[in-house]
Amino acid sequence: MCMKSNIESFLDLVKERNGHEPEFLQAVEEVAETVIPYIIENDIYYGKNILLRMVEPERVITFRVCWVDDQGEIRVNRGYRIQMNSAIGPYKGGLRFHPTVNMSILKFLAFEQVFKNSLTTLPMGGGKGGSDFDPKGKSDNEIMRFCHAFMSELFRHIGHNTDVPAGDIGVGAREIGFLFGMYKKISNGFTGVLTGKGMSWGGSLIRPEATGYGTVYFAQKMLENKGDNFEGKNVVISGSGNVAQYAAEKVIQLGGKVLTLSDSSGYIYDAEGINIEKLAFVMQLKNEKRARISEYLEAYPNAEFIKGKTPWDIKCDIALPCATQNELNEEDANILLNNGCICVSEGANMPSTKDAITAFHKAKILFAPGKASNAGGVATSGLEMTQNSLRFNWTREEVDLKLKDIMSNIHDACIEYGKDEDGYIDYVKGANIAGFVKVADAMLAQGIV
Ligand code: NDP
Repeated sequence: MCMKSNIESFLDLVKERNGHEPEFLQAVEEVAETVIPYIIENDIYYGKNILLRMVEPERVITFRVCWVDDQGEIRVNRGYRIQMNSAIGPYKGGLRFHPTVNMSILKFLAFEQVFKNSLTTLPMGGGKGGSDFDPKGKSDNEIMRFCHAFMSELFRHIGHNTDVPAGDIGVGAREIGFLFGMYKKISNGFTGVLTGKGMSWGGSLIRPEATGYGTVYFAQKMLENKGDNFEGKNVVISGSGNVAQYAAEKVIQLGGKVLTLSDSSGYIYDAEGINIEKLAFVMQLKNEKRARISEYLEAYPNAEFIKGKTPWDIKCDIALPCATQNELNEEDANILLNNGCICVSEGANMPSTKDAITAFHKAKILFAPGKASNAGGVATSGLEMTQNSLRFNWTREEVDLKLKDIMSNIHDACIEYGKDEDGYIDYVKGANIAGFVKVADAMLAQGIV
């Protein structure tokens, strides 16, 4: 059978079972197209249905979450935890609270997480979870009641040696605090069951910064490999949450100029550049006031707010999509390319559509898929788990150095498996195969379980 029909028949089988899950199918297709040719070339993996086993979650948990709002009304949400693969360690992956959360989105995130966690070289399996709960506009008390209700069921499925959740969209330091509080109460134990904890109760320095910093460290490695760097580069960033904020901070520290930030209502464009002082204002706006990004203009009226749009039509050298999945399509990719963009490093998970990635590859620019470039977050979560087990805290400099090292190793692994005959580095292929090999070897060693 030829390569193409091998991939097609595999994807047909996955579609038959998961036809109503478009995001999950998108993530599987991207992996299958690069990993199946590798499996065919390597006898130890061939004929073992190893990828078919990987696309089936080890366990899927859904549960009811009832809570009472400030008006005394009873609300009902749906909670999820996808325990995707535990071949190389306890399930590990974030919790997302957003009204769009459904099985397809969480399965795509959990599947990506398996490869990403493997790339970090730390012993972590892959998982993901969350709820269709919308934290926007909720009071602190409502957030607390929801988090407590959510954990009152989730607690029986997780544990520091079983499954260690973290934050994601809509789940930051405040939510992790409430979730941890309830877990500790009902389990009667103080363990490192969640990461992203506060510094006084088991958190790691640099964890809040890690995903954004790591995304920029990865872009820096790609640029360095071409004899280039961030100095004087115009950088367009989407999102204004955790990942976007710290990606912006690191770009500024490395001498780049950040032109945009966004949220789901639109984007701000500051032609003079968003410097550290302006970024501190954004952090206060988003993290404390929980306001919209458009309020940036009240402090910096020279900037523009473009409602309901993504920032990809702003001319730039480097683009960092840091908001959400499928936020950068083929048309956006072509605009970026026509404007001379040389590098795209994904801070978010699967922000570029398949056609956008094809356009970047065709143009042979530097393109890093999220599972490689945003792995710094979960890697530092892994370092938080290690510090919890040791009951010891490393310094900021020590964690940052380890983060840089891990991003550099992921970059090298992508080169090892992703170099094309003409010398172009296909980071998608590199990340998928490097992530696959470690998990597949562990699964083969453990037998059919
Ligand atoms: P936050 O909740 O802190 O911020 C999310 C940002 O993205 C906000 O600006 C939000 O705008 C925007 N956004 C969310 N949904 C949409 C949407 N449907 N359309 C447009 N904008 C949207 O989340 P994070 O910064 O933590 O996560 C951002 C991305 O990074 C996600 O893809 C996440 O999976 C990924 N990621 C996060 C990691 C982490 O450590 N936090 C680790 C690895 C990946 P608004 O406020 O209007 O909703």
